[in-house]
Amino acid sequence: MTTSTRYDYDLFTIGAGSGGVRAARMSGSFGARVAVAESSDLGGTCVNLGCVPKKLFVYASSFSREFADARGFGWTVGEREHSWPQLLAAKNQEIERLNGIYARLLHNAGVDIIRGRARVVDPHTVEVDGQRFTAAHILVATGSWPRMPGIHGAEHAISSNEIFHLESLPRRITIVGGGYIGVEFAGIFHGLGRQVTQLYRGRMFLRGFDDDIRAALAGEMRRAGVDLRMNVNVNAIHKRDGDAGYRLALTDGSTHDTDLVMYATGRAPRSRGIGLEEAGVKLGEHGEILVDEHFRSSTPSILAIGDVLGRVTLTPVAIREGMAVANTLFNNAPTTVDYEYIPTGVFSQPPIGTVGYSEHDAHAHAARGRVDVYVSEFRPMKHTLSGREERTLMKLLVCRDSDRVLGAHMLGPDAPEIIQGVAIALKCGATKAQFDATIGLHPSAAEEFVTMRQPRGDVPPT
Ligand code: NDP
Repeated sequence: MTTSTRYDYDLFTIGAGSGGVRAARMSGSFGARVAVAESSDLGGTCVNLGCVPKKLFVYASSFSREFADARGFGWTVGEREHSWPQLLAAKNQEIERLNGIYARLLHNAGVDIIRGRARVVDPHTVEVDGQRFTAAHILVATGSWPRMPGIHGAEHAISSNEIFHLESLPRRITIVGGGYIGVEFAGIFHGLGRQVTQLYRGRMFLRGFDDDIRAALAGEMRRAGVDLRMNVNVNAIHKRDGDAGYRLALTDGSTHDTDLVMYATGRAPRSRGIGLEEAGVKLGEHGEILVDEHFRSSTPSILAIGDVLGRVTLTPVAIREGMAVANTLFNNAPTTVDYEYIPTGVFSQPPIGTVGYSEHDAHAHAARGRVDVYVSEFRPMKHTLSGREERTLMKLLVCRDSDRVLGAHMLGPDAPEIIQGVAIALKCGATKAQFDATIGLHPSAAEEFVTMRQPRGDVPPT
């Protein structure tokens, strides 16, 4: 690659989250002179206020299920108590360790870390706390931020940003929103013994996921004791006199008392107020940066990746985009990102793993819209002894004409782990016949994916 000394840097990355760090490190390893500006902790949302601490919380909360299930296997489980401050302290220690790893990775790739909030001054200049830096390319990897409601009393609600540092966890918690964060935290708080209410404004939460999976998770959460309510939203949040709680005025005319209100109603791209529009960068209607297939904005020296694009807001996607930018700019290998068949997991309890099209969407992608639907629903082996009334659901969607598997969905223990493997098959264009030719791994739940013989609605042969 060729670097120019016309500028201080070849690449100036704004934001040291998953995407920004990967782009900076890779670019540095290709010989580019790189800086990354970060106003908060290294690692961004995923490491500090998202995926990583969330998953640790999921582990923490799932012990209550394990304790209950253990009895059926002959265990006597004694008194149990959970310390939220102890969990926070352990989590904080682990996150600090990861922050350190990120710093070392950047350092080893020769990347300068500049602490402070960056602003774009012109297409080749960035300012951080009054200091100016020039760069051949500026990469915006500023991520996203929780979207809060514009209702009366909104200041009483917290978002997922605050939950990771909350000093204590009250008895009654209400979650607003029916997306990833809402269902994951409903499971976390419930597992930690809190009384959880989750409110969703539409008919069925987890819009965009397969309908059978959504309905099955709703059923399992209710069975476990989460007060899950659909078709309802919050009009206002009132602080109650005389106690630390809140009274919510709901759209169905009722009121609901709670001790903590957490909003999980989506995240907005962090693109405003950092000089982008002044530098000619075009934004979409939700503030997302509009880019071409090589992540160049309408100002070609300014690129963007990750959540700030408002497209597929998942860490591994941001990382892939960061690698594409580094390869394109500094490795003489113009690279795009393929967004088809991205697997994703929802760490609800039980969790969801999914890849490809939902049944609803599969019809649009199958030849002539003809889709065979294979479903398997069963009680996991573990629960034959634990006594837990919980079902696992697995589903395959197959194009009848080409036999290609268009979607694989699972609700049940280890679903995200299982679907990651299935995603490789779908990415390779596997057919149902190839799934069937694969020998099952016994005894496992995953083997169901290669033993589904009869499409739903078909009469079994006699
Ligand atoms: P989501 O976009 O997943 O869900 C937002 C939810 O809030 C939807 O149910 C939506 O309803 C609802 N909503 C939106 N606006 C309002 C409003 N004004 N009043 C009431 N409800 C509203 O966002 P999350 O905040 O849950 O998560 C943000 C993103 O973070 C996710 O989309 C995902 O990309 C990422 N993430 C990924 C995880 C993973 O991979 N496991 C985990 C956590 C987050 P409706 O459906 O009607 O629009």
